[in-house]
Amino acid sequence: MTEEKEDNNTSTNSSMMKRVTWQSENCLSCKWFSPSDPLNADILSTGKCVHPSLQKFKLTVSGRDWCNLFVEISQEQIDQMQEKAAGAEQ
Ligand code: SF4
Repeated sequence: MTEEKEDNNTSTNSSMMKRVTWQSENCLSCKWFSPSDPLNADILSTGKCVHPSLQKFKLTVSGRDWCNLFVEISQEQIDQMQEKAAGAEQ
């Protein structure tokens, strides 16, 4: 009986895993993400969400988080953020 129950759990877990998908539109690639370390920001980095309507909540998000206010960041904005951070380090 116990083995049968474990098998059911295993198959349930397997079917759940098949539904897991990677979101490409996450905070790391969102224009409203302000990473704590812009020069080394990656999917596990944390930072602030500076979206005008979310800023009041002072959210700390990670690069892999996501919400429906996502707007893709431009390469120009990334370059500006990294140049500013590089200048601050010098
Ligand atoms: S929480 Fe939403 S708006 Fe804020 S950085 Fe992440 S995706 Fe963008």
